[in-house]
Amino acid sequence: MTKPDWGRSVEIYDTTLRDGSQQVGLDLTVEDKLRVAAALDALGVDVVEGGWPGSNPKDKEFFARASELPWRNAQLAAFGATRRPNRSADGDPDLETLLVANTPIVTLVGKAWTLHVDEALRTTREENLAMIADSARFFVREGRRVVFDAEHFFDGNAADPVYALDCLAVAAEAGADTLALCDTNGGTLPDDIVNVVRDVLGHFPGLRVGVHCHNDSACAVANSLVAVGEGATHVQGAANGYGERCGNADLFAVIAGLELKREHELLPPGRLAALASTAREIAELANLPFDAKQPYVGSSAFATKAGLHASAIARRPDAYSHVNPERVGNRAHVLVSELAGRSNVLVKAAEMGLDLSSHPELATSVLEEIKAAEHRGYAFEAADASFELLVRRVAGRTPGSEAGRMPEWFELEGYRVVIEKSNGTDRSEAIVRLLLGEQRVVAVGEGVGPVHALDQALRKALSELYPELANIHLVDYKVRILDGRAATSAVTRVMLTSADHEGEWTTVGVSDDIVTASWEALADGISYGLLRAGADALVPTGA
Ligand SMILES: [Zn+2]
Repeated sequence: MTKPDWGRSVEIYDTTLRDGSQQVGLDLTVEDKLRVAAALDALGVDVVEGGWPGSNPKDKEFFARASELPWRNAQLAAFGATRRPNRSADGDPDLETLLVANTPIVTLVGKAWTLHVDEALRTTREENLAMIADSARFFVREGRRVVFDAEHFFDGNAADPVYALDCLAVAAEAGADTLALCDTNGGTLPDDIVNVVRDVLGHFPGLRVGVHCHNDSACAVANSLVAVGEGATHVQGAANGYGERCGNADLFAVIAGLELKREHELLPPGRLAALASTAREIAELANLPFDAKQPYVGSSAFATKAGLHASAIARRPDAYSHVNPERVGNRAHVLVSELAGRSNVLVKAAEMGLDLSSHPELATSVLEEIKAAEHRGYAFEAADASFELLVRRVAGRTPGSEAGRMPEWFELEGYRVVIEKSNGTDRSEAIVRLLLGEQRVVAVGEGVGPVHALDQALRKALSELYPELANIHLVDYKVRILDGRAATSAVTRVMLTSADHEGEWTTVGVSDDIVTASWEALADGISYGLLRAGADALVPTGA
């Protein structure tokens, strides 16, 4: 048994735009697909699978426009099935569509499990082998590189290993240069992956053998890693683990694991540090919430809540994280919480550039204020902006403290909201009265709900004085009822995320009343945005 002669060069093959977009709730326009492809290319993956041109007009259009992109690192692959049973490859309309997509790589999916040949394809096993061979030969003759995706390979291998290997053999004989073993149902565990990959590598020395793992047993990343450990040199997966059911292998965790722990060089030099921002960018393009717990790249991946540990973490970050977060473009992050002690608050403030350590009195006041607020229902773990505003406001009230005082841009005199429902349509109107220094401003906003209307009115009132507002927009709004048992007296917590060109921030509001809680989060979100933008404040000290 000789290992393939690819050395340690493992090919990273991304299928976000084809298999990944099978995920429920993931719907990409052609523009979105082009942006995702550009992000993956910039990160430096080897292959971007653009879609299945034979299956829908959107993918067809994507391939027609893919040449607009300034491809720097990746090659484009088009995906499709083997020819139809009992027909010739020449003139097969689906193969023709794949050819027209005009990609350097064609990925052909074929059956490798007798159950699927008998029941799904309803043809003979010999005909299935001929379909694989003819289709692969067709594209090799056209000068394309052929990747053979052996569908359900691990289940097929368990049912009839001789036949499963025959499927690979005919693809290889026809000129396919890569054999991708697909765990299509996602049920295979790592030890079985190891045994099967070893066996296949023994049969096909010199060919690139890879895996395509689904996450139905929560092993997709582990399966991909052990396959590479065994000698596989091609890994398919999707950004952020997107995919149908439980998803595909999370390509970012695979890349980070292999680069940081197994010394593989997969991305161009320096690009690993773009991993976290790429993951976030693709989640935004996909319009899916970004999972804070996502390994390596999530905002909580290197965050810790334990108050006792905070000072130790500040001294020795390597003692509390498995890798240096900066290597994947993430950062160590200390959460603020009721559980936290004083040191936690100091570290958190220092992260924001506020030095409280030389102001013991201020640090004590901040800690007391946080504990009181958390008791009322506030949560600052995810609301960094509100934490910073709180620190600055407390600093403004503390004699002798100059640390990052809070400027104020506007003062609320009052607001009124009218909620109207007529003929099945909801429409709200808000009137906001503000004091801007000496000036009193009244503005009216309309929206689909009271919060939207308040946002519109607040923006209208401020837009003339603060043109920076044009770059600040709402990205997420979450409402949580705390202590639901108390029914109508329950407290409402609103978390609101705002963004500008540079990034995002979250603010929190708490009240018995949802509109009041929303206003608080809204007003703080705008204030924090103006602080970031360096807008001139009316009241510079906040005292
Ligand atoms: Zn798949």
